[in-house]
Amino acid sequence: MPITLQQLNQATLTEAAQMLDGLYEHSPWIAEQALAQRPFASLAALKHAMVTVLAQASTDAQLALIRAHPELAGKAMVSRSLTAESTNEQTQAGLTHCTPEEFAHIQQLNAQYNAKFGFPFILAVRGPRGTGLTKREIIATFERRLGHPVDFERAECLRHIHRIAEIRLNDKFGFEPVTGNSVWDWHEDLARHSDPGFAEQGQLTVTYLTDAHRACAADIAARMRECGFDEVHIDAVGNVVGRYHGSTADAPALLTGSHYDTVRNGGKYDGRLGIFVPMACVQRLHAAGRRLPLGIEVVGFAEEEGQRYKATFLGSGALTGHFNPSWLDQKDADGVTMRQAMQHAGLPGTLEAIGTLQRDPSRYLGFVEVHIEQGPVLNEMDLPLGVVTSINASVRYLCEAVGMASHAGTTPMNRRRDAASAVAELAIYAEQRASADGDSVATIGMLQVPGGSINVVPGRCAFSLDLRAPSNAQRDALERDILAELRAICERRGIGLKTEETMRAAAAPSAPEWQARWERAVSALGVPLHRMPSGAGHDAMKLHEVMPQAMLFVRGLNSGISHNPLESSTSDDIELSVNAFSNLLEQLATEHTH
Ligand SMILES: [Zn+2]
Repeated sequence: MPITLQQLNQATLTEAAQMLDGLYEHSPWIAEQALAQRPFASLAALKHAMVTVLAQASTDAQLALIRAHPELAGKAMVSRSLTAESTNEQTQAGLTHCTPEEFAHIQQLNAQYNAKFGFPFILAVRGPRGTGLTKREIIATFERRLGHPVDFERAECLRHIHRIAEIRLNDKFGFEPVTGNSVWDWHEDLARHSDPGFAEQGQLTVTYLTDAHRACAADIAARMRECGFDEVHIDAVGNVVGRYHGSTADAPALLTGSHYDTVRNGGKYDGRLGIFVPMACVQRLHAAGRRLPLGIEVVGFAEEEGQRYKATFLGSGALTGHFNPSWLDQKDADGVTMRQAMQHAGLPGTLEAIGTLQRDPSRYLGFVEVHIEQGPVLNEMDLPLGVVTSINASVRYLCEAVGMASHAGTTPMNRRRDAASAVAELAIYAEQRASADGDSVATIGMLQVPGGSINVVPGRCAFSLDLRAPSNAQRDALERDILAELRAICERRGIGLKTEETMRAAAAPSAPEWQARWERAVSALGVPLHRMPSGAGHDAMKLHEVMPQAMLFVRGLNSGISHNPLESSTSDDIELSVNAFSNLLEQLATEHTH
């Protein structure tokens, strides 16, 4: 019989500890200490209580927990001395049925890992969907994690231990993230479409208006119909638009969505999560035969990443009336204009048709967007959700430092005008200056010595600057200081300087009342509230220009890596994001009933 939360909350401490037995390998103290925080409002609250206990424990206690785990496909498995939970997990992952070669390879990895880190490799082999990683995924992860620094890997092992405990806890409580699982599966399913050249290598690349891109749009539209949307269509720029009507014809609508295009060799969740999560909410409403006093309009934006054409936020820009007419004549790498690409995709390819997509903000309550975090913060804090306070302001420069190329052997150190060293000095300063703010970031992502040689002092250095901060004022101060330091360094070193500003975007602070709705939605789930800025740009930035907006972030695994095939999210976290979105809809329904 599965345990209920009520039983756990009401049991004596001894009984309750018994109920949670086996969650953490040979370490009942974690659950026992967490039980002091009863009653728990939700499983998510209980999970977080255990996370907090372990986070506050000493490093020795954390290491003891890690060392209490068996090696993957290790001696304990062979001698059948694993705990029942571990046996079950390793069997499901197929580790009890390795070929002799696979087994030998895993033993070798175990030995290397132990020698480097001094503790066993811990992996939640049931994976982000709970149904088990393949042997190939397990071995690839093992090989990758061998390269991590020790402190990072210790923290990563603890995260996997929490994931293992989460799945064991779900099993004990007979809880299955049913919606999260199906939304997770929608991502897998959509990822079968990929552009030629990438598809063959098993990589996900969906750029604007390719055949794979059109196939994605058709799939999303079909799924919207299955979910019970009243109207579904693909608009003149390729956005997939689904509307679920409110209880009255004149009901205002909530606008939501994100993009379905990807970067080259990208992840499966970037953008798509923000389309599928509200679709799952509509599916629930439709299944319950419910209408809210507001309409729900979900848009799968056709283009956000600017990969095929230099036109980022094209999809959301069309809704705000910011489609740049010159884009239609822009050519891709193969010389195909955007107009031709549109017509090839069966779209009109005319400014007139695109102009009709502009939305009248007065008919909308606002815009919300769910997005995978694309950063390490939530993963590090072991939190499933984060509420976005602001999308960072940014500014970008392309620069060139010009010194004097001279002989590397004969030019004394005090006579050099080394352009690359000047930029190196700036790089160190930029790092320190941005760090001092706490939440600013500064990146020199491109740094070249054009025509450089091993035996020549760099005469020129071309480099980029990307500066971001949560507010325009903070970005401006960061920019001012870094440019001033750059000029000072160059003057001191006798270096000439050219700078060209290539992009400037204003911060998009969340509308306070919308941010508050997300905060209430997250708190209602028993999940601790964490507010954070968004370092990356999102479609919400565009909609921000015409209506109030706020975003919800969902934790990414593997340190939150994104724009990378390792991007991942658990079906448990996705389920929480669907529940948070449903809660936000209920809040809006209540507000608009009177
Ligand atoms: Zn995105």
